[in-house]
Amino acid sequence: MKILVLNCGSSSVKYQVIEMEDEVLLCKGKVEKIGEETSFITHTKGEKKWKFEKKMENHEDAISEVLKILKSPEYGVIKDFSEIYGVGHRVVHGGEFFKDSVLVDEDVKDAIRKCIELAPLHNPHNLRGIEVMENLIPGVKQVAVFDTSFHQTLPPRAYLYAIPYEYYLKYRIRRYGFHGTSHRYVYNRFMELTGMDREKAKVITCHLGNGCSVTAIKGGKSIDTSMGFTPVEGLVMGTRSGDIDPALLLYLMENENLSTLEANNLINKKSGVLGLSGISNDMRIIEEGYFDNREEAVRAFEVYIYRIVKYIGAYAAVLNGVNGIVFTGGVGENSSILRRRVCENLEYLGVKIDLKKNESLRGEGEISSKDSEVKVFSISTNEELLIARDTYKIIKEEK
Ligand code: ADP
Repeated sequence: MKILVLNCGSSSVKYQVIEMEDEVLLCKGKVEKIGEETSFITHTKGEKKWKFEKKMENHEDAISEVLKILKSPEYGVIKDFSEIYGVGHRVVHGGEFFKDSVLVDEDVKDAIRKCIELAPLHNPHNLRGIEVMENLIPGVKQVAVFDTSFHQTLPPRAYLYAIPYEYYLKYRIRRYGFHGTSHRYVYNRFMELTGMDREKAKVITCHLGNGCSVTAIKGGKSIDTSMGFTPVEGLVMGTRSGDIDPALLLYLMENENLSTLEANNLINKKSGVLGLSGISNDMRIIEEGYFDNREEAVRAFEVYIYRIVKYIGAYAAVLNGVNGIVFTGGVGENSSILRRRVCENLEYLGVKIDLKKNESLRGEGEISSKDSEVKVFSISTNEELLIARDTYKIIKEEK
């Protein structure tokens, strides 16, 4: 049974085809620069990689090109569209409508549409992807998997902001949290690897990529997470500020004469590690500078680490103890110095790491030592696989 996974952005479409029997990735690729003269597709099947340059005006063009590739004898993995058991879509925002992944129907599309005001840069394109597939393969079953749904178990004390309650009622302003598919995937994998009792597990998952977030998971449920109403809140990220005093934004808007758009740009695109260092948002470059003792890199790295340490401490308190910590995302999976520096500050929780193991580990493995009271792992996230699993399961149950 083959599942097509689609992640539709404003000018890009990422896709994967996964054979669910043994969860093998058959092919994957990305369409970029949709709507521009120079749009192209990069496609990978096994060891082979191709680049196709073709002008694609919109998502319909892009997805039909992808489907052509999937059916091609040379690059493809299917002979007929009937081989596609279902299509799983990454949808960024499910608001308070969706606590789980769902089979797409008209009501689901309406709800995704209602969430556009909460995620104007993402939901319209996610929805477009669903509609395009309906046109291109009529009758195909589709499932929506939301970045927010895993965090719908947050209690009100964690999701409410201390602003007049009427704004929650009027605009649904609350903390939603994001990266849910990644946190859920690495949590499940952690439980598989450790065999820990689900009811007793108190796990903190740290997704550290371009975007960064931490989640506190108790008994399998997300009970707090660092991103909020938007993905700007929480940790220091590549270009996003994370937590700031909201009044400083008003101060800057007034003193720097910033428009709302400029202020939004400031906290989303010019801040974080990039803003602090003035050199880069790429953690590899910051790390290099840190090892060379360059002041601007050290400054950014220290603030980045400190914020993670603070959040883990807060979530250990919220969970009333912790027995598992997971690092994931490009930085979490690859940066041994980051993991070491964070864990050095968690000795009070009983965290002890094996420095040698940590130093050499990239991707999946345990970094805690035998006598550590907390199991610490690095796990490569795989959101596409989780989307494919949800899609397969939901369609199978429906039939
Ligand atoms: P996204 O959040 O866009 O999915 P990733 O999870 O791929 O991104 O993470 C990208 C980040 O991972 C980049 O900031 C990059 O600097 C960082 N990264 C990738 N490899 C390494 C490495 N070896 N050491 C440190 N950071 C790394």
